[in-house]
Amino acid sequence: MNIDKILPFAKNLLKKAIKPGDVVVDATLGNGYDTVFLAELVGESGHVFGFDIQEEAIVASKERLTLQSLSERVTLFHSGHEQLSQLIPGNYHGTVSGTIFNLGYLPGSDKAIVTRPETTIAAIEQLLEISKPEGIIVLVIYHGHKGGAEERDSLLTYCRQINQKRAHVLQYQFINQQNSPAFIIAIEKI
Ligand code: SAM
Repeated sequence: MNIDKILPFAKNLLKKAIKPGDVVVDATLGNGYDTVFLAELVGESGHVFGFDIQEEAIVASKERLTLQSLSERVTLFHSGHEQLSQLIPGNYHGTVSGTIFNLGYLPGSDKAIVTRPETTIAAIEQLLEISKPEGIIVLVIYHGHKGGAEERDSLLTYCRQINQKRAHVLQYQFINQQNSPAFIIAIEKI
């Protein structure tokens, strides 16, 4: 298949926006796979700030980072991403070049603990303030689970009204697949 699938497309957007030495955010740590990817992109001189509300996700991410000797370039917050502008030190505000959100629930864990539209939107608003110009926010939207359709619709409504002078907003989606396939919204700050 020549068309990029959803996750490779998301990674390519981040690869393009993030350079060694950058400051980036993993808004939904989960098992830490994206954090490792981001930590490799920013290199030794860069930094990743990661957020999750589940202790399990913090533990899993910490273990994965330790195994790969990447812990020093990552700060993990056991806290919701809606707190990010309070928790990321002020000297980094205006410098964030890339953020990833993997929405929905943590695979293999409690399916009732899911991301929610109000907190996701609050975090995007904060990221639009603390990102640098051309900084990118990538949302991978899973919407097949309970509450997923509501989150999808709220996010689409919110993202469609972002002023085009404030950000470029893209939707990337396969439109002939069954069973609520994941899709991407990418937001690039202007
Ligand atoms: N990116 C992860 C990975 O590489 O394994 C998968 C993330 S998983 C689909 C979604 C995660 O979002 C869950 O671990 C869940 O606990 C977390 N979450 C839910 N609400 C959150 C919030 N308000 N702030 C931060 N994380 C949240």
